Amino acid sequence: MTLSEIEEKLQKILPARRFHHTQGVMYTSACLAMRWGEDMEKALYAGLLHDCAKYLKKKELYNECVRYGLPISKAEEADPSLLHGKVGAYYAEHIYGVTDPDILGAITYHTTGKPAMSLLEKIVFTADYIEPSRNQVQDLPQIRQLAFTDLDRAVLTILQQTLAYIRGNNQIIDDTTEITCQYYYDLLNGGDANGS
Ligand code: FE
Ligand code: FE
Repeated sequence: MTLSEIEEKLQKILPARRFHHTQGVMYTSACLAMRWGEDMEKALYAGLLHDCAKYLKKKELYNECVRYGLPISKAEEADPSLLHGKVGAYYAEHIYGVTDPDILGAITYHTTGKPAMSLLEKIVFTADYIEPSRNQVQDLPQIRQLAFTDLDRAVLTILQQTLAYIRGNNQIIDDTTEITCQYYYDLLNGGDANGS
C-alpha cells in the first residue's frame, strides 16, 4: 500500500490522539533520515506504522501473538502492551504489504530498542520519544537537539529515562530495554560493547 493509503486506513482505526502521534513520528523519522543519511521513504513507512497495533487491548495483543505464533517473553506475558511492536510488525507485513526487514525491525523494536540497532531502528526509536506532540518528558529540548547531533547518545539518554520512569512507577521492565541500555552505555563509554 502507498503511504497515503495506509495513512487513510490508520486514521480510521486509531484514536485521534494516537494518529496525531503517529504522524509526528512519521515526519520526525523523515527528518532524522535526512540528517543521518537514511532512506527517507523507509523512515516514513516505519514511522507511520510503528503503532499500527496500538489500538488493541492487552488481551487482544496477546491473542494475536498466540494466533500467529509470535513468541511471547516473560515481561510481555506480564505486560502484553509491550507486544504492540511485534504485532504491529506482523500487521505491517501481512495487512499493509511491507516486506523490507529493516522497516519491520524498526516497528518491532520501537518500544524496547535492542543492542546494535540499525540506523533506521535508532531513528524510529528516537522519533517515538521526541516527536512534537510529546511533552511530558524531562529534558526534551536537549534530547531533541541530541537526536540531530549524536544519535547514539540520544538513544542512550532515552533508554536511561525510560528505565528510570518504569522503575519509578513500579512497572515491569523488559529485559531487552536493560540489555540495550547497557549496550549503548558501554558503546559510548569506550567499554567493550559485549559487556566485559
Ligand atoms: Fe509504541
Ligand atoms: Fe509510538
